[in-house]
Amino acid sequence: MTNRGNNQLGRTVVPQGTGVVLQGIGVSPGYAIGRVHLLDRRRMRVPKYHVSPTELDAELERFDQALNESEAQITEIKSRLQSAGEEHFLILDAHLLILRDEMLVDGARLIIKEQALNAEWALKKTVKSIRQIFEKIEDEYFRERRADVDFVGDRILRNLMGSAQPALSQVLPDAVIIGHDLSPADTAFLLRTHVLGFATDVGGKTSHTAIMARSLELPAVVGVGQLSEKVGTGDMIILDGTTGEVILSPSPELLRLYQHKQMAYSARRAQLDLHKTEPARTRDGVTLRIAGNIELHEEAMILLEAGAEGVGLYRTEYLFMNRETLPSEDEQYLHYRHVVEKCGDRGATIRTLDLGGDKFLNNLKLGRELNPAMGLRAIRFCLREPGIYKAQLRALLRASAHGELRIMLPLISGLSEVRAVKVLLAECRQELAAAEVQMAESVPLGIMIELPSAAIIADMLAREVDFFAIGTNDLIQYTLAIDRANEHVAYLYQPLHPALLRMLRFIVDSARSAGIKVSMCGEMAGDAFFTAILIGLGLDELSMTAVSIPLIKQVVRSLDASACRALLDEVAHMDDAPEIERYIAERLPGLLGGAVPTEVFDPLQHIRSHD
Ligand code: PEP
Ligand code: MG
Repeated sequence: MTNRGNNQLGRTVVPQGTGVVLQGIGVSPGYAIGRVHLLDRRRMRVPKYHVSPTELDAELERFDQALNESEAQITEIKSRLQSAGEEHFLILDAHLLILRDEMLVDGARLIIKEQALNAEWALKKTVKSIRQIFEKIEDEYFRERRADVDFVGDRILRNLMGSAQPALSQVLPDAVIIGHDLSPADTAFLLRTHVLGFATDVGGKTSHTAIMARSLELPAVVGVGQLSEKVGTGDMIILDGTTGEVILSPSPELLRLYQHKQMAYSARRAQLDLHKTEPARTRDGVTLRIAGNIELHEEAMILLEAGAEGVGLYRTEYLFMNRETLPSEDEQYLHYRHVVEKCGDRGATIRTLDLGGDKFLNNLKLGRELNPAMGLRAIRFCLREPGIYKAQLRALLRASAHGELRIMLPLISGLSEVRAVKVLLAECRQELAAAEVQMAESVPLGIMIELPSAAIIADMLAREVDFFAIGTNDLIQYTLAIDRANEHVAYLYQPLHPALLRMLRFIVDSARSAGIKVSMCGEMAGDAFFTAILIGLGLDELSMTAVSIPLIKQVVRSLDASACRALLDEVAHMDDAPEIERYIAERLPGLLGGAVPTEVFDPLQHIRSHD
């Protein structure tokens, strides 16, 4: 959902006539105030000409040369990041794979040979046709992977045209980077140049770039439409990474207002950070475990440094993307082991593959589905492809020998799926035991509660598994029938809809009665507006993106669990989500008792942003 996570701090009311305000999706909180550095890749004119038969070999050679140069450059950036201790260099491996991908390399070579066209044009045509394949993919995350193909294509093109050095090397320290899109390599580079933040025309919350921005606490806004066409290098600009607002040519007063907000925000966040490793215990002694969500194994360290008490959700499907072949069992094992070892006693909950429909690798040739959200997704896909699934289960069991690992199943709709996985797990255990492979004696098995059917039979499911994790992103999508990625129905994204409140209560009560733990790992868990209600519900754990952890911990510490339970009882009688939100917004300041500064969390701003 495009506005998910935008509402944590709410929106500033920008006075009319003081600057041009554009609305994007805030993907990483904080303010960036500075001068635009425009990266406009699209303006590069690609020449087209025919190559004579006698020059064809030389043209192919020129293309190969550009591939080699591109490979050397990406490898160099990767090793610089690696030696600087940056954990994100692994994303560049995906770019190296794309660079040597058959579809790209052979496709362009064929056009050069058969159509006698120059290498630049052949490359442009090939990238375009690969892009078209990606564009047909409905899943937002996978569709965004087309950007990686573009970035690699762009680099090869620049090498062919002799302008390989992107303008990033000349970026000034107070720059706010604006581009149509940024590659993860660009983003990683930006960190070294200490820019203030970035905004892009396209993108969503799940792009690698957004993920990196969040985990590195660089304010960022994506999906701002035609921003890169409206600004020029040197223009003044303000980004609000929380609300997604981008202000062009701000007036001096507005600039002062935001400078003030930024200073206050940074000072408050620094204060919060001082307590990030302290437990999240309410004033009356109820402790919640605050864990973190990761998409890539190398994010585990960043998460733990942000104060996470373990990994609450590792979305392993990211390991299967940006590539033509499936990761082997050994490769998976190394990734899972890395996370488990980093977490140590704190534990890691690793979710099995949540892929589906046509959102998958090209080589699996799954048919296009009319309604992929309700199609062959997640556990359904895995049970249909036991070969692929068992490789993952075996990798997980092997990783369990190295620490506290829990296995979590996505999109469970009923008991038979859980039982089917148990059978596969038992087979994997036997196979590994026969080969004398080490693994933990028992590995807790839990499920995501993210379908209404699972929520309604939570009492039955609770008897079958070791823990629950509530995936509100999907639970809200499926309960209220709103496509997560469709901005036209975004206004119906109501985590406190009475139907959801009833479900949440039932899920938590069912877990309690069965004596199992229940966590929440959807975006709702990392939104401070909902923390009091989640405490009132009695959740054991909240799992969220790293950047939310210090604030949520502080909010928990400022609240009284008994007052939260009373608040929940009061709203449970109300019949309308906006009314519930208004009531909570009015009550929260009193409940928090001034212990959470409004610069980092203002409950009233939350409802203002919906008006
Ligand atoms: C969810 O649905 O809330 C969840 C955490 O899973 P994902 O966002 O990966 O679908
Ligand atoms: Mg989900």
